[in-house]
Formats: sequence, structure tokens, C-alpha cells
Amino acid sequence: MNTKLSNPVRNSDLAKLDSLVPLSKTRPVWLRVGRLIDGISDRPIADADVVFEAGQIRFVGANGKTPAQEDLSEGQSEPDAIFPNCTLLPCFIEAHSHAFLDGAPINSRERELYLKNSPQWMLSRARARWPKQLQCGIGAVRDAGDRDGVGLSLAAERKKYRNRLAATPLIDSPGAAIHRRGRYGAFMGEPIEDHASPANCVAARVAAGADRIKLLVSGIINFKVGQVTVPPQMPPEEVAELVRAAKSHGRQTFAHASGIAGVENSILGGVTTVEHGFFITEDQLAKMRDQQIGWVPTFAPVQLQIDRAAELGWDDQVVSNLKRIIESHQQMLRRAYAMRIKVIAGSDAGSCGVPHGIGLLEELRHMERAGMPPIAILRSATGISSAMLDFPEPIGQITPGFRARFIITQHDPLETVTNLQKEKTIIFDGAAIHSPNDMTTDGL
Ligand SMILES: [Zn+2]
Repeated sequence: MNTKLSNPVRNSDLAKLDSLVPLSKTRPVWLRVGRLIDGISDRPIADADVVFEAGQIRFVGANGKTPAQEDLSEGQSEPDAIFPNCTLLPCFIEAHSHAFLDGAPINSRERELYLKNSPQWMLSRARARWPKQLQCGIGAVRDAGDRDGVGLSLAAERKKYRNRLAATPLIDSPGAAIHRRGRYGAFMGEPIEDHASPANCVAARVAAGADRIKLLVSGIINFKVGQVTVPPQMPPEEVAELVRAAKSHGRQTFAHASGIAGVENSILGGVTTVEHGFFITEDQLAKMRDQQIGWVPTFAPVQLQIDRAAELGWDDQVVSNLKRIIESHQQMLRRAYAMRIKVIAGSDAGSCGVPHGIGLLEELRHMERAGMPPIAILRSATGISSAMLDFPEPIGQITPGFRARFIITQHDPLETVTNLQKEKTIIFDGAAIHSPNDMTTDGL
């Protein structure tokens, strides 16, 4: 291997990527990094070479396994740049976010007024967030539903760029979530009662353009009581019928479920993933492992209630409820990891105080605080998510044939995932995007 370089590029020269990365639209670009996290392996790869074009990764190798000439520009024998102190990892998949909502505000009046705006206005808010979400390293978003078609419109816009170079993250959407009339979720769903049968309800969502089917199986946590105080909205038979109908259309299902009964009905119904899952039990985790059901634990919206309790007006009793809920959620996350359950990172961005983009980076921090190892957390936000969630583009891995969408950072994310909140460079379909330290949450 030829390791002698005429113009070795130093770490501090990540800005060099500005001129280098656009070349990937016309020829392969060869990078060597000190460490590669490929999104699937359980350990990082040292001294890795990555060759990519704007549209796809061509070669990945380590420890002297150099690319074949057919993967390179004619005559190229050395990397275009070497970043020995940098880590390269896939762009993140945000598996639970509500694109129609601003996440950052926590004032309840402000949030109510927001919902009085037109869908067109919300759509323009959502479009305006894309650049900052990319700066956070978000390469794909699984929208978790709204009733006015904001997520569906974003997904439709993005579909025009399928298999082409894109300037925005991949997004898909379930459209309106399915809930029971009079029960939780009217602001993001439409009632099942609007249709003659569960199958008709699913068919209507698919006809409207839904990429997946979102079910509101339970209510939400009553923070004052510290529990989910109402029974589930959907019995297991109904969940199963909805899941069957979704499968007949080739659609996955994801179930908003907190409280033991809500989680149970979702598992019995055979959904693809359980969202939130607060109060989940170890027995339920075992069933999820056996049925290959994924879990998106969404710590962020509940942790936020603790972190900003004073602003939200919570008293000591409520804060102690919240802390108990988070502690048991942390414990279940550790169990889930030990049991090799498919844990998937999603922040519930858009919900009160959870900004888009930054919210996912915060979610990773909460998972780390729970005791999950950084490499596993990063897999949950990349390779596991991509393997479980059936995205229409090959994303979430640094593997030949996958899209060339990755993050390069000199702040080691395996030391702590909070390092991902520091400045970094995102490579996305032939563009290099730099993110600053301490991004603001404005507009997110
Ligand atoms: Zn949600």
C-alpha cells in the first residue's frame, strides 16, 4: 500500500471538504479516517478507507485493504484526504418526529396558537427546518403523523428525488394517525369511526399516500398521577386487524403506546414498532424480542418535563413522578439492550420542548445516560433503524451501495455521544455541510 502522501490533509482542514466533496459528482472521492463506525458492527474500524461518489458509497476497507482501481479515478493511488483523528459515521435516522409541529416552544398557549395556523403555513415551517436538521446530521425522518397532510406533502416532495441526488433528508409519513373518536390524538389523527371497518380505514390512509400506518393504541402519561390513567383506545383484536390490513398494502405499523395495557395490546396486535412504551415490563420486552418488534423509547419528551419543570409549573410531587418514570424507563432500556431487542432512536421531535434535529442528538444523550454503550446507541440511530424500518433508499450504513450520506467529526462520539452536538461536517449527496458548536433551536 502506498501511504506516502504528497499533500496530506490535516484534521483541522475539514473545510477542505468544501472543495473536495463536490468532485464526487464527477469522480470517486477517496477518504481515509482514523475511525469508522459503519452503523452495523459492534466495534469501530480503525484506519478505514471510504471511496464514494455523490450517489453512493463505492468501497469501504480497513488496515491496508485499499480500493481496486475500478473504484477509483483513473491513475489515483492515494486518498484525496486523510483525517487520522476523525470519526466517520452514517447520517442519523430520526425514527419519531412530527414534522407539522415546532418542537422548541414549551409555552402551552404558544403551542395552542401554533395549531391554529393553516397547513400551508405549517408546511413552510417544516420546509424551512431542513437545512438545520441536515446540520444536525439527520439524513432521514420517519414522520409520526398529522391530520392536515403536512407530513404527506413533505414526503411527496421528497419522493421526486428518489434515486437522485437530494438536498433534503429522506422523509416518509403515515398521514393522519388512527385514533378512537373522543380519545387522545385528535390533533394528529383522524378517528377510526370515520370508516366502515379497520381495513377500510387503513385503505383510506394508503389512498391518501401513507407510507406507514400510525396507530394511537393508548393515551398518554398523566404526569400529575405518574401513570397512564385511562385504558387503551384499541383492543388487541382491533390492532391486529389494522396490522393485517396494513400488511396487505405492504405497509408497516407503528403504535403510540404507553402503560402496560397499551403496550400489551400493541404487542398482541403484532405492530412493527412500539413507540414510547413507558411502563413497559420485562415480560413484554421478551415478547418483543421473540416477535422481532422494535422499540422506540423516546426519552426526550419526558426528560424535558424534568429538565424544565419550573418553567412548566410542575411541583415537587410531579417531578418525583417524572423521575421515577424515567428511572424505570432507563432500566428497561438496559434490559432491552441486554436482550438484543431492536432499539431504535427517535425523539418525538415536535412535541413540547423537543426541537427537530437537536432533539435526536438529545435523545442519544438520554440513551447514554440510561447506560447504553455509545456504539450501540449509534447503531440504533443508523443501521438498526434502516434494517427495521424499510426505507426506500439504502441508508444508515457505511457499506458499498449505500447512499453517500455521512458525518465526519473530530470529536469522538464513542467517548460520549454528546460530542455529536459539537461542530462536525455532514456529507450528503455530493454536498459538504458544516455545523457549528451549540446550534440554536430557533425554528426547530
Ligand atoms: Zn409522537
